[in-house]
Amino acid sequence: MESAEIRRRWLRFFEERGHKVVPSASLIADDPTLLLVPAGMVPFKPYFLGEATPPAPRATSVQKCVRTPDIEEVGKTTRHGTFFQMCGNFSFGDYFKEGAIKHAWELLTLPQDKGGYGLDPERLWITVYLDDDEAERIWREVIGVPAERIQRLGKKDNFWSMGVPGPCGPCSEINYDRGPEFGAEGGPAVNDERYVEIWNLVFMQYMRGEGIGKEDFEILGDLPSKNIDTGLGLERLAMILQGVENLYEIDTSRAVIDKATALTGHAYGTAEHSDVSLRIVSDHMRAAVMLIGDGVTPGNEGRGYVLRRIMRRAIRNMRLLGATGPVVGELVDTVIKTMGEQYPELISERKRIETVALAEEAAFLNTLKAGTTILDNAVTEAKAAGSRELPGDKAFLLHDTWGFPIDLTLEMAAEQGLSVDEDGFRRLMTEQRERAKADARAKKTGHADLGAYRAIADSAGTTDFTGYTSFENEAT
Ligand code: ATP
Ligand code: MG
Ligand code: MG
Ligand code: MG
Repeated sequence: MESAEIRRRWLRFFEERGHKVVPSASLIADDPTLLLVPAGMVPFKPYFLGEATPPAPRATSVQKCVRTPDIEEVGKTTRHGTFFQMCGNFSFGDYFKEGAIKHAWELLTLPQDKGGYGLDPERLWITVYLDDDEAERIWREVIGVPAERIQRLGKKDNFWSMGVPGPCGPCSEINYDRGPEFGAEGGPAVNDERYVEIWNLVFMQYMRGEGIGKEDFEILGDLPSKNIDTGLGLERLAMILQGVENLYEIDTSRAVIDKATALTGHAYGTAEHSDVSLRIVSDHMRAAVMLIGDGVTPGNEGRGYVLRRIMRRAIRNMRLLGATGPVVGELVDTVIKTMGEQYPELISERKRIETVALAEEAAFLNTLKAGTTILDNAVTEAKAAGSRELPGDKAFLLHDTWGFPIDLTLEMAAEQGLSVDEDGFRRLMTEQRERAKADARAKKTGHADLGAYRAIADSAGTTDFTGYTSFENEAT
């Protein structure tokens, strides 16, 4: 089943069951605590917080998401993209646990010729929160899932809050057993690559108090009205329904791998190392196009830096695969071809997307060679001095003068067996930022101060919002 069809079926199923279909919001979050949208619930947050009245008691969407913190997983696990689409259904004080569980089970197991996804019920494993007896009872008694395929997990996986006082509650997740080729048995609690998580059902039922982060806090009591927030990874379901091993090989992503192969002459499936590079290119180019499509431009701060890191990592991996000239134009074109049907704004904005992407590639290629020489020399010097670490000031110089995002430096140093003094790097970045702020104040230019956002981001988040804190830390 094609990705586009998965999306259509999702929206149709929930629309037929009384949900208002809401188009994906922009990746640029309309929310000061977030740089980018990491989950489908973000546009609905004001309704969950009681700050606005929902337009309908039930809603559904397929939301574009970017999770920068997952960048290191890309290409290495089978299931993490920096860009992905989260299919969601939401209830604002309407149906609760039983309704959410029944809808999810029905859609996943409904035969394909009846409009569902037709998954084999025997391959579905359920997790519930430690003390959520109610959810477990529904799964067993109402749905009929055998007790041995239901596991209980702790706060880290199966309890949701935004990291601050407000709504919170247990989750229940649906996982798909991909079979013994993917490793040991024992359920999602034991092996998350074999039993891949596909759908998270969040039961917002309590009010949380003060506390630390997402695991250490008190529950103050029940919410006056209980809500449902769910998220299913479209690419993960596509990977299962298309019978491929990882989400970089699904229809929309595979086309980018094939294009990268054509551009570099490096076939997919010949070596693990180059396969990882091809998967990184596939994911990162998709993310880059979607970000530029929503108006992000590469830069050294905030969202612009997320885009820059992603694009430069993709370009460098293309070089590792053997590309010598510019490649971004054709890759962008392929992404637009595969995603344009679902996101027509990519087609109408094609010219702008291409211009931005090509300019970033040109800027990076201009400095890549000189920067690589600086890095190589610094590595040789460090090694000659008997050190296994690249000094922070070199990483800073590479960032500041040669446009090397820190993770590029980390990656390139690691390839030569060296770590990087990241603390030293960050210290220099902070000093530079302070200087820039002081200059801006002096000039009264109204330079945006992200510090205030950071303070909020330090304590806020949904299921994955804290990731943006870690991104910010990396960037500083
Ligand atoms: P995982 O444990 O696999 O990292 P998660 O628990 O972080 O996933 P949730 O925050 O529960 O994910 O998000 C809801 C759903 O979105 C997941 O069940 C999964 O299907 C999908 N999803 C989450 N992160 C990614 C990603 N990086 N790439 C693709 N799909 C994702
Ligand atoms: Mg995750
Ligand atoms: Mg998880
Ligand atoms: Mg989850």
